[in-house]
Amino acid sequence: MLYTSTRGGAPAVSSAKAIVDGLAPDGGLYTMNPAELPKLDWRSMMDLDYASLAAKVLSALLPDFSEAEAKTLVEAAYRGKFPDAWITPLRAAGDDLFLELFHGPTSAFKDVALCLLPHLMKRAAEKCGNRDDILILTATSGDTGKAALEGFRDVDGIRILVFYPRDGVSAVQKAQMVTQEGSNVKVCAVEGNFDDAQTGVKNVFAAMPAGLSSANSINIGRLVPQVVYYFAAYFDAVRLGRIKAGEPLNYSVPTGNFGDILAGYLAAEMGLPVGRLICASNANNVLTDFIRTGVYDRRRPFHKTLSPSMDILISSNLERLLYLMSGDSALVASLMQQLKTEGHYAVPAELLANIQSRFCAYCCDDAGTQAAIGRVWAESGYLCDTHTAVGWSAAQAFGKDSGPVVILSTASPYKFPAAVLSAIHVPCDGDEFAMMDALEAATKTPMPGNLRGLKSRPVRHTDVTAPADMLAYVSAKKAEPSWAE
Ligand SMILES: *Cc1c(COP(=O)(O)O)cnc(C)c1O
Repeated sequence: MLYTSTRGGAPAVSSAKAIVDGLAPDGGLYTMNPAELPKLDWRSMMDLDYASLAAKVLSALLPDFSEAEAKTLVEAAYRGKFPDAWITPLRAAGDDLFLELFHGPTSAFKDVALCLLPHLMKRAAEKCGNRDDILILTATSGDTGKAALEGFRDVDGIRILVFYPRDGVSAVQKAQMVTQEGSNVKVCAVEGNFDDAQTGVKNVFAAMPAGLSSANSINIGRLVPQVVYYFAAYFDAVRLGRIKAGEPLNYSVPTGNFGDILAGYLAAEMGLPVGRLICASNANNVLTDFIRTGVYDRRRPFHKTLSPSMDILISSNLERLLYLMSGDSALVASLMQQLKTEGHYAVPAELLANIQSRFCAYCCDDAGTQAAIGRVWAESGYLCDTHTAVGWSAAQAFGKDSGPVVILSTASPYKFPAAVLSAIHVPCDGDEFAMMDALEAATKTPMPGNLRGLKSRPVRHTDVTAPADMLAYVSAKKAEPSWAE
């Protein structure tokens, strides 16, 4: 099984090369041919441990990796980084089922993929005969940067440089990044907003493509590890008696770039009995409108919300869904061109009907998000973060009559202490760090170890650059033989 560009303008490549390169040269996203998607005999996988389950999924979707090799990589990736060998526990709280994806080193769901991506990338580079060091460049609005730093730290042969907007991340997020340890990591503030940082990174890629790669969800190596937990959650729901093996299970997914929910679609295509995939959005509800009407229109105001990791108007991975469902790269190329030049597109009726047979969509604003956190806490004593609350609210709107729903819980509530405290009506005048302590005192929900004591950890990264100087900054850092102190 080879990977082709969603836009059809680049040669097909092996799964290893797709991971090493990140993005296809025609600007499309490397994706599997829908006719070749492998089916898995999920019934025979129900009693596997997480690493063995992951190895089956990974080797099916990334045929350059054997099952045994994938298992070794998965074990190395998660060892010592997650508290439990079952990486993604399913928690029942009242009637609700929360799939907790945030027990990794940075307390956001991106850890599940970003702990594994470095291992996949290193082996993939070897398979491609690539002997040079790789430099990963990442622009972050908050969560991805820290998860990528933790994932790639001290991985030999790879260095990682993260750019964050100087005034655009929360105090907790900034403290997480500037205190980052590791001999191969650098963090640099950009004097500008997230778009400035992201545009700067894209300019560096254009100017010096050799030896660079990407850690965001345009890389197929980040998507594949996320397919695994759809299987894991299904098996847990059977074990909890919420469904019988073979019955459909619905999943509500707090969505931004459409990566996580697309992993659910892949799981379904591989044979898992998935019911509906519920696309949950905040006030930036471009996907809600798209799934309901078939019109994607980014010409709308951008809202800064309490669930910032979903504040996005261009959901990159939707392009992969359009390709997987239509198999028509010419159509995808023309829709993406229209999105770029006109800011909107409409899909053909048949494709829309196909999308609506698998997905449904709901959105909720900040008031709804806080009301959801308050209700879940009051009714079942479960503390959700703001993103998870958007997913819960969508599951409510979907309705209990439509069968059991797993809500993907994508971050620890301690990453967003101000919004969570106010949602459960606990007053606190201090800074975000004081709020974390207040949240723990009020709820007795334990604070993740990586966030405890963050305020007093030594700052290791103080570099700042203007957007216009990012290329010079990267060139200078790339030329240094080592970043170890
Ligand atoms: C990134 C992120 C999301 C959105 O995931 P996508 O794959 O971009 O759709 C949701 N919640 C949290 C906490 C995130 O960090």
